[in-house]
Amino acid sequence: MEGEGELGSSINGGRLLFFSLPLQGHMTPMLHLAAILHSKGFSISFIHTKFNAPNSSKYPQFTFHPLSDHLSESETAGLSVFDLAYLINDKCSEPFRDLLTEFFTDSSENRPYALFSDPALTFTRDIAKSFALPRFVLRTSGIGAFLVYSSFPLLQEKHYLPIQASQLEQSVGDLPPLRVKDLPAIGVPDMETFTKYISELVEEAKTSSGVIFNSFEELEDSAMAVLRQTFPVPIYPIGPFHLYSPPNSSSYLTPDRTSISWLDKQAPKSVIFVSFGSVASLKQRECLEIAWGLANSGCHFLWVIRPGSISGMNRQDALPEQFMDMVEGRGYIVEWAPQHDVLAHPAIGAFWTHCGWNSTLESICEGVPMICTPRFADQMVNCRYATNAWTIGVELRDGLERDNIAKVVRRLMVEEEGLEIRQRALDLKMKAKLTVTQNGGGASFESLKSLMSCLSSSS
Ligand code: UDP
Repeated sequence: MEGEGELGSSINGGRLLFFSLPLQGHMTPMLHLAAILHSKGFSISFIHTKFNAPNSSKYPQFTFHPLSDHLSESETAGLSVFDLAYLINDKCSEPFRDLLTEFFTDSSENRPYALFSDPALTFTRDIAKSFALPRFVLRTSGIGAFLVYSSFPLLQEKHYLPIQASQLEQSVGDLPPLRVKDLPAIGVPDMETFTKYISELVEEAKTSSGVIFNSFEELEDSAMAVLRQTFPVPIYPIGPFHLYSPPNSSSYLTPDRTSISWLDKQAPKSVIFVSFGSVASLKQRECLEIAWGLANSGCHFLWVIRPGSISGMNRQDALPEQFMDMVEGRGYIVEWAPQHDVLAHPAIGAFWTHCGWNSTLESICEGVPMICTPRFADQMVNCRYATNAWTIGVELRDGLERDNIAKVVRRLMVEEEGLEIRQRALDLKMKAKLTVTQNGGGASFESLKSLMSCLSSSS
């Protein structure tokens, strides 16, 4: 923990600070990480923006510290992840410094040992340093995707970036199994701002006391090996976080439990679960094609359509007329699902996902094969790993068209190939279960042990 202060030698009740970006895909793993470290004897102080605050009642064992961020709904509506991060960096620096001052003038037993923050919260670095507070970062993507981000300078040097339309199918020699079109820069409207954001993110990680991943080495061993060699600080892949203990719900939206009672009435492995996460949106045309594709596949489906997730339209207007009558008995639509429980349900046969990292990992943990429709950023990388390295899914990326959709759904749900893919997904599920256990010789178990010993020893 070079230059970033010392940790106390006893962890018993020692305080750790956590600070996440207020987005579902970031907040959930940060809360889970805090719960894991709480179970190891630490006290947890969870710092957050008032905007998209976590539900503190679900975590009575933590203390919550809202910052006076003055972020309004209108300011944050529709912002991309990195624009939101910039806004928070702008607004939260002073309140964060004030809060740390309180912690450090407080009685000695309340003084924090370390901060766990999102690397997108760049202002935390200098402020933590000024208090000699060790800072770890939780990177909420996979290791493979982070390796790509940290290779941006190389990718620019070798002219893979900015992406040229003529190169899309070309392999990225330095980063197998990726093609140019899998790089997380595809479709980025302002490459300069995006590259700056990525380079700051990587710099935050490089100057931290260690980078934590909600992933496991048995899954991402080759990316991990490269990162370990090239990265200047320790890397701790200690996931899947939610396998240490059943997670409390950290959803911003209320999960619709009728989806579970509906699944209870379905045959084993007969339902495809369709969800594109908490951020991605669909064009009306895409929504229509998905609806017809699902209907024409003849398969049963549970589909999450988040409020506001179809550009400029509500769900009723976006779906084909009489759609629910047409698919009665075999289709069910909710605004938000209890995804962990859905994926673990015996009726689920496949997951049609946007390949957000949390969704990818949750699917792996339940041995559910995937249809991968990435929309942006690291989802492209996760899709490529799922379909080409782990071979637990099929890609459905460019042809969001009803006949193609019906064909791909049947390929996974009905055809022989689907059975083989499911078997590989089940093998990976077993590895995920073992990695967090001592008896399974798990790499994540060992990695958590080294994080603990780093936390409990002085630098
Ligand atoms: N999720 C959920 N219910 C839903 C859809 C998503 O609980 O109906 C959760 C899902 O379990 C995951 C998170 O939302 O933990 C989405 O994170 P991910 O990284 O997959 O994608 P993002 O939303 O960040 O694009």
